[in-house]
Amino acid sequence: MRLVVVGAGGRMGRMLIRAAAQAEGCTLTGAIEREGADVLGQDAGVLAGLQPLGVPVTDDPLAAFAATDGVLDFTAPAATVFYAELAAQARIVHVVGTTGLSEDDLAKLRAAAYHARIVRSGNMSLGVNLVAELVRRVAASLGADFDIEILEMHHRHKVDAPSGTALLLGEAAAAGRGVDLAEARVSTRDGHTGARRPGDIGFATLRGGSVVGDHSVIFAGPSERITISHHAEDRALFASGAVKAALWAYPKPPGLYGMTDVLGL
Ligand code: NAP
Repeated sequence: MRLVVVGAGGRMGRMLIRAAAQAEGCTLTGAIEREGADVLGQDAGVLAGLQPLGVPVTDDPLAAFAATDGVLDFTAPAATVFYAELAAQARIVHVVGTTGLSEDDLAKLRAAAYHARIVRSGNMSLGVNLVAELVRRVAASLGADFDIEILEMHHRHKVDAPSGTALLLGEAAAAGRGVDLAEARVSTRDGHTGARRPGDIGFATLRGGSVVGDHSVIFAGPSERITISHHAEDRALFASGAVKAALWAYPKPPGLYGMTDVLGL
């Protein structure tokens, strides 16, 4: 399968180049960055710390998308919406790891999925998707006297909060409880907040250092507490998950899929 990486110069972009170049059955055919980026013209392999691959970083997604089978995209919401339209026109696979997408952005992805095969997930790792399934089951088993709180920590450069993974875990908890996360979600607490509202699902965000991604879902009951945690230690985990998603989606019909589909959970 031929693959293009967009946002090639980013933290995840470089990981995705390595994963696409090294995975069996895949060839890296393009690496895209935005106009004016200082990595334009560099060899994608060298950029990712590999031997030269003969694939220069360009700012021409149209040409790259016309000669490939799939795109790996961990960039920013506006860029992802733009690439989704191009991927739909080219009828190719679009793997979206970008987080912080608005409802409006998601509607545009759903429209693009009439023509493209899109796999989107706030977390591409097997571990987190398994944890989400556990969270759903625990939330379904425990009564309303267990309060659900989600704590996450990421590196100092992360620009959106709560993390896509925290929201994915929140969705799993809400699904287990049979409630709508949009109504139960509390993402900020500051000042005189009053007592905790029964049924709320709370989010707490920590930022600092080089943390790849730590998440804990806490079920706090009257006299006991259950904590389910996941610690990501290497971004390569997400990149290999993205390549796996692309290979999985290649023979599938157009549609919007998630990592639970890819992993068969
Ligand atoms: P990053 O280092 O800032 O990388 C983002 C890259 O995208 C940058 O190189 C950026 O270029 C580029 N970009 C932005 N707009 C673009 C455009 N219009 N065209 C081309 N390139 C564009 O961030 P990161 O840590 O790699 O994370 C990227 C995204 O992936 C975030 O949303 C993050 O939350 C998400 N993520 C998801 C998972 C998962 O498993 N789903 C795992 C890790 C991270 P500039 O620097 O010029 O802006």
